[in-house]
Amino acid sequence: MFDKILIANRGEIALRVVRACREMGVKSVAVHSTADADAMHVRMADEAICIGPPSSAQSYLSFPAIISACEITGAQAIHPGYGFLSENAAFVQAVEDHDLTFIGPTAEHIRVMGDKITAKDTMKALGVPCVPGSDGGVPTLADAKRIGEEIGYPVIIKATAGGGGRGMKVAQTAADMEQAFHSARAEGKAAFGNDEVYIEKYLTTPRHIEIQVFGDGKGNAVHLGERDCSLQRRHQKVFEEAPGPCITPELRARIGKVCADAVAKINYIGAGTIEFLFENDEFYFIEMNTRLQVEHPVTEAIFGVDLVREQLRVASGLPMSFTQDDLQINGHAIEVRINAEKLPNFSPCPGTITQYHAPGGLGVRMDSALYDGYRIPPYYDSLIGKLIVHGRDRPEALARLERALGELIVDGVDTTIPLFHALLAEKAVQTGDYNIHWLEHWLEDHLH
Ligand code: ADP
Repeated sequence: MFDKILIANRGEIALRVVRACREMGVKSVAVHSTADADAMHVRMADEAICIGPPSSAQSYLSFPAIISACEITGAQAIHPGYGFLSENAAFVQAVEDHDLTFIGPTAEHIRVMGDKITAKDTMKALGVPCVPGSDGGVPTLADAKRIGEEIGYPVIIKATAGGGGRGMKVAQTAADMEQAFHSARAEGKAAFGNDEVYIEKYLTTPRHIEIQVFGDGKGNAVHLGERDCSLQRRHQKVFEEAPGPCITPELRARIGKVCADAVAKINYIGAGTIEFLFENDEFYFIEMNTRLQVEHPVTEAIFGVDLVREQLRVASGLPMSFTQDDLQINGHAIEVRINAEKLPNFSPCPGTITQYHAPGGLGVRMDSALYDGYRIPPYYDSLIGKLIVHGRDRPEALARLERALGELIVDGVDTTIPLFHALLAEKAVQTGDYNIHWLEHWLEDHLH
């Protein structure tokens, strides 16, 4: 095991990694921009080092700043968290070139899965079911129109380099194709420097089901069931749960095995998530995330495992601490994402926290780096906390969520907490009867 690792991230996820390190007896180094000098992850880590000005490009995304911080502090490995450099193959290469360990998959796996066309080809070859669509990239509008006719409208045009819900446009009919094709390309170019796009059948009522996988890099891999993340706004998740309300043990075993076998076959190392759309009892692969996900705690809750601990174990050459047979589901867990955003438009709302009180009690976990008097800087993501509850079954988890939300106090800035109070009163949320479009429609009806 490592003696000391550096955490190349901030906020709740940096704190999450510090906590795992502390329990494992591994020293942790926090890095921070000048805007984060007073942040909780800086206070909680064993050491902290300033790596640059507020702009992410010059701090949390700066290869030289982060690698120098490792060299100065003697950290042997880097945990990237999620976002920032977590899926940057060039960074992984740079880390390895400096004889440091990246706590995550290889540069090659990140590269393959980071390009959605290559990812889909690879998964298809590994026997993973995919959304019907174009065979690879679609270079011209004429090709796009031909493929649209072949697979049938509606279709979705997606940037191969896309992520975070960007670079995707829907064409409901052939008449929308020209506009959708050009704007997906333009968005891909502007946001990711790559205008290659591909086309998929647009599924009209799917759920978003993702499978957590974990590999040791030596051909062994397991799956840790699914998470249902169907409640989304602008293709971004807001409420996640495990197990999925409509996934039977048979469906789970079938798709879980396909996923675990696929990642075992490519010698995948560390945590990964294989995302699917799920409609009429069929799974359709959309992408793989080669990192820890924001919503990993719901999986931890139902399996009683610490995924960050496992990441450190396999990165240091140790085996995983569980086998597939050890992994049994216990109860139901739900996570809600608390963002510093003003409703109804979800506009970012940085500012000073005048009062913070985290909920507690049985089955409640609050992952947040907030504290009284904390100033949320305006430069970064608006996620300020995740409330995770665990109960014996879904109704108990829902009741616990409502109770815990009632205890949570975040004063001084607007947050998405009222959204969850309102959602819990909805029959569809109570019964789990929704698809990926439900929340958008609900927001239109209730907030505007
Ligand atoms: P990103 O990398 O930006 O997160 P994904 O490919 O994971 O993009 O898709 C994000 C979300 O977009 C999905 O959860 C789903 O809501 C929607 N989506 C993606 N592909 C399709 C599709 N073929 N049909 C319908 N919705 C889709």
